Amino acid sequence: MRTHARQNIACPKNLPDHFPCIVTSRINKLLRPGLQELSAYHVPASEGLIKLDAMENPYSLSAPLQQEWLEVLRTAKLNRYPDAAADELKQTIKGVLQLPQQCELMLGNGSDELIQLLSLAVLDAPARKSARPIVMAPEPSFVMYRHTAVVTGMDYLGVPLQSGNFALDMPAMLKALQKHQPEILYLAYPNNPTGNLFLWNHCQELIENAPGLVVIDEAYHPFAETSATHALVEYDHVLLLRTFSKLGLAGIRLGVLAGPLNWLQHFEKLRLPYNINVLTQLSARFACHHYDVFLQQSAQIRQQRSWMLKELKKLPVLQVFDSQANFILFRVPDGSSARLFENLIYLGVLIKNMDRSHPLLKDCMRVTVGTSEENKCFLTALEQSMRNL
Ligand SMILES: *Cc1c(COP(=O)(O)O)cnc(C)c1O
Repeated sequence: MRTHARQNIACPKNLPDHFPCIVTSRINKLLRPGLQELSAYHVPASEGLIKLDAMENPYSLSAPLQQEWLEVLRTAKLNRYPDAAADELKQTIKGVLQLPQQCELMLGNGSDELIQLLSLAVLDAPARKSARPIVMAPEPSFVMYRHTAVVTGMDYLGVPLQSGNFALDMPAMLKALQKHQPEILYLAYPNNPTGNLFLWNHCQELIENAPGLVVIDEAYHPFAETSATHALVEYDHVLLLRTFSKLGLAGIRLGVLAGPLNWLQHFEKLRLPYNINVLTQLSARFACHHYDVFLQQSAQIRQQRSWMLKELKKLPVLQVFDSQANFILFRVPDGSSARLFENLIYLGVLIKNMDRSHPLLKDCMRVTVGTSEENKCFLTALEQSMRNL
């Protein structure tokens, strides 16, 4: 009988006719304003496709390393809660990421979690009085800056980059800092989805004029060969974000926030105590001990990036933007991005269509640098797709 009742519940056709109305009225009564209009982060299906849409490292571990990793995982105590403070892991990470000894670290379930947590920390900022606090970023930039701001009830202020080269529009940025006094300013260094590295003297001028926190997001650090780590010791309102995702461990979800203890001791209170699970902690420790392998892979990706840039620039109808990250942004002929995107999928390659995501990205597409074979397939498919437009 019970099974039968359960089946009834699971089957929408057996619901009373008025049921959806009750749900809707409760939804309208209970959900926060704006939540129904938001869209969830969309991840396209990639089954069977060459996946060049999400800035993942295309290389997997060698068989002996994979074996060693499995041996490490074997020691995981799945019945116990993970180490909540993860102090030893943090020390190891500080070492391999070459972060200043005097800075403090906080780990997140991906840097996305840390970005959200920073918003939570400045909600109801006393300096703001009655208005909502503000997250500011140049745009186009990483979508989660806006998303987490909106989700946590902050206002988001995007200041357009310069069209043409995607450099920071310094007069506009300085004016916005002055006028809106944002609690948090994000600078992705290098920037996603444009791939360029902002001039450091521009960043520095923004840091020196920012009334709130400045977060330098170095998700693409392995491909940039430069870092703003020095700013951590020069300024007490600068935080640095890193992630293991683009390096080759997107699956374990581990982000790192580095900054002064004065700030991080308070952010710690907002972190859910066991946000970094046992398997992630063990895998991260393993990865740190084999960091050279990931650095080698990054070097290979940088080489492939140069090759792809060179090849893409041979196609005269494209406008190709230089990149310091593991992806390349390029502009296709007017109005052709949607058809090209579909043609590429038909030929088995998934990239990202950035057209319509921001006015400055009209007709732009973003491809992640993959393995040599994947990149060749992509280029062949792209040329064929353009012929078939
Ligand atoms: C991919 C990306 C991240 C997200 O990293 P996770 O650690 O996987 O959450 C953060 N910042 C930028 C700029 C990114 O492109």
